Amino acid sequence: MNINDIAEQNYLWVEKMGWHNKTTLEALALVASEVGEAINECRHEVPSDSFGEELADIILRVVDIAHWQGINIEQEIMAKMLKNEQRGSRGRVK
Ligand SMILES: [Mg+2]
Repeated sequence: MNINDIAEQNYLWVEKMGWHNKTTLEALALVASEVGEAINECRHEVPSDSFGEELADIILRVVDIAHWQGINIEQEIMAKMLKNEQRGSRGRVK
């Protein structure tokens, strides 16, 4: 299953549950709340066992927005990775 398929499956489930937000700003705020939850799982030296689940929550909320807005997120990710690689180090030292 590619990320666009995941986005569609998740979108359809959230829609069925009646949980979609009215605005992209609200949906982005919930991405931020999931980032906060992921941060809470990193309060100790080693991230907790729930850290991966919180990372998944972040991704699911992001791809849900992408699907809703008609964005091909797989294409966007691949294009951005290529752009980053072509930009080189931009002066950063390893
Ligand atoms: Mg969460």
